[in-house]
Amino acid sequence: MSVERNLADIQQNIRQACESCDRSPEDISIIAVTKYVSIERAKEALEAGIKDLGENRMKGFLDKFEAIGGDADWHFIGSLQSRKVKDIIDHIHMLHSLDRKSLAKEIQKRASKKIECFVQVNVSGEESKHGVALDDAEAFIEALEAYDRIEVAGLMTMAPHIDDEEELRGVFRKLRALRDKVRDRSLPHAPCKYLSMGMSNDYVIAIEEGATHIRIGTALVGQES
Ligand SMILES: *Cc1c(COP(=O)(O)O)cnc(C)c1O
Repeated sequence: MSVERNLADIQQNIRQACESCDRSPEDISIIAVTKYVSIERAKEALEAGIKDLGENRMKGFLDKFEAIGGDADWHFIGSLQSRKVKDIIDHIHMLHSLDRKSLAKEIQKRASKKIECFVQVNVSGEESKHGVALDDAEAFIEALEAYDRIEVAGLMTMAPHIDDEEELRGVFRKLRALRDKVRDRSLPHAPCKYLSMGMSNDYVIAIEEGATHIRIGTALVGQES
């Protein structure tokens, strides 16, 4: 299936989801996650009108960035090793995986300008998942005030791989409640307006629960490997 066709289907679903909860589709950013596909396929996403591309691994990011560069706005969505920060930090538009102080420190040291970051929160508490624990997130965000190269643009989570819709909604709602709470404090370093949540299998639910940035791989560009 062409990216263009997939995108049309996804946009249709977004419109419906937005209608059902009285939101505007313009408030939803689609990030095409290209980690499973070639550079060519990533370019096809750009041709279809996508501007935001996401990668979760260093090699995938650097390969694609080298080929595509400034034609896209780059999102790093995977866990980031501190020693790799210097290789990517000035190339990315947003980091979705800020989850520890040592990483914040390294960003502070290496970034030549302020960077918008999502704090990744492990809402579901699964051990396999990265992210700050829900109960620790607010204190972590407060502590980020010490790093003026970091702006807390929002919160990110990965929902568990389950079919239970109510449980999924519960995860998204908890992240949204935390976002609302932090946003309403109007901390200068943490406007915290955005919610990065929702992937191929759960983006409709995520939008209904307030997602502003959805990260879609399989349903948009497919999987080649
Ligand atoms: C792979 C990945 C996605 C996209 O997953 P799909 O299910 O293929 O849409 C989104 N977010 C993160 C952090 C990922 O690693």
